[in-house]
Amino acid sequence: MTTSLPLAARADLLVGSVIDSSTSLLAQQSHDIVRFAMGSPAAEAIPWELLQEVGRSGLGSSSAFDYAATEGEPDLRAALLEMLEGTTDRTTDDRLTITSGGMQGLDLAAKLFIDPGDLVTVESPTYTNGSATALAYQAELAEIEVDAEGMSIDALRAAVDRAGRTPKLIYTVPTFQNPSGTSMSLARRTELLELARSWGSVVLDDDPYGMLRFAGADVPSLHELADGDPLVFSVRTFSKIIAPGLRLGWVDADPSLQTLLINAKQSMDTCANLPAQRLVAGFLQRGYLKDHLATQRTEYRRRKEAMQAALAEHFTGRATWTDPEGGFFLWVSFGDEVDTEELFARALAAGVAYIPGNAFSPGRRFPHDLRLCFASTPTDRIHEGVARLAGAIDQG
Ligand code: PMP
Repeated sequence: MTTSLPLAARADLLVGSVIDSSTSLLAQQSHDIVRFAMGSPAAEAIPWELLQEVGRSGLGSSSAFDYAATEGEPDLRAALLEMLEGTTDRTTDDRLTITSGGMQGLDLAAKLFIDPGDLVTVESPTYTNGSATALAYQAELAEIEVDAEGMSIDALRAAVDRAGRTPKLIYTVPTFQNPSGTSMSLARRTELLELARSWGSVVLDDDPYGMLRFAGADVPSLHELADGDPLVFSVRTFSKIIAPGLRLGWVDADPSLQTLLINAKQSMDTCANLPAQRLVAGFLQRGYLKDHLATQRTEYRRRKEAMQAALAEHFTGRATWTDPEGGFFLWVSFGDEVDTEELFARALAAGVAYIPGNAFSPGRRFPHDLRLCFASTPTDRIHEGVARLAGAIDQG
């Protein structure tokens, strides 16, 4: 429905998210559906009993339902610093702002750095909500190809040459990328930082899945490689490692941005949800995260392997797919004969949901690809879902 109200010009640029909308679309379906669409942790991976235990004993009094400090609850900040100690995201208190999920971190970065018409590069495919946020701040987007080693730095250079100007912001999901599942190699990370430095660009380092590695060797985060250089603005979230409904994350940015981040956040939501902050602080203080992550990594590896086995059974010779070493997603590329947007309704009717590739590209570059989330579905259902997908394609 269109409105007759006098909207701001930027309202036209609010493109929304096919991914997020799939939650309500799927909630309206009454038949059995294998859900490879949303990037949610497995229902059984949400540590709700532990969170309940913290809730019963750890929230304190009614003060837990008051406003919190905008930069975040001190207990949570302290527990987070400790949690990051010894990881590639090790940091200091003066760099942290607690946010309402990773999405708010992306919005804060866009709000601080993007003027209308600024060039922002995004990966191709990219995490749509990130590109949509940049668009909402009236950025001009350039899509940069991703291959098995992550964002192509040659393609980035070529895009900047074509544009005739340097990007204000370079948006990347460097590790177990959403949606492709691929990771940027160390060589490319280093090269990216060198280029960004020479251009005076900010690198928006969105890395929600880095702690969910289940194969291969660790690669240092862009945050670590930058070694305190203010050019890297890192966005992190508790959504994938604890639970998305908490809506909690953090920004790790140069201390010179702290006041601006607080000012910007105060005009969004004053503070992140305090009961949720107390829950996560208690969860971390009790040391629950380590075991929780170990269990999740093992299970996600099994699920990825199950999905690859099912894909090999049904699609060998008809499609190719990526082989992620962590995270939630893999990316399937079919030949020209499969239109994944057109296939979606048939697949949904057949009882399987995914996200079509075009949802991950402002220029709609992926009509024959799709994203599958292997993390939220048990292995037997993964086999069933891929079989249903094959059936839906064969009906076409
Ligand atoms: N960035 C990426 C790459 C993501 O995959 C997600 C969640 N799907 C987010 C940011 C947003 O995180 P949150 O749900 O914590 O807002």
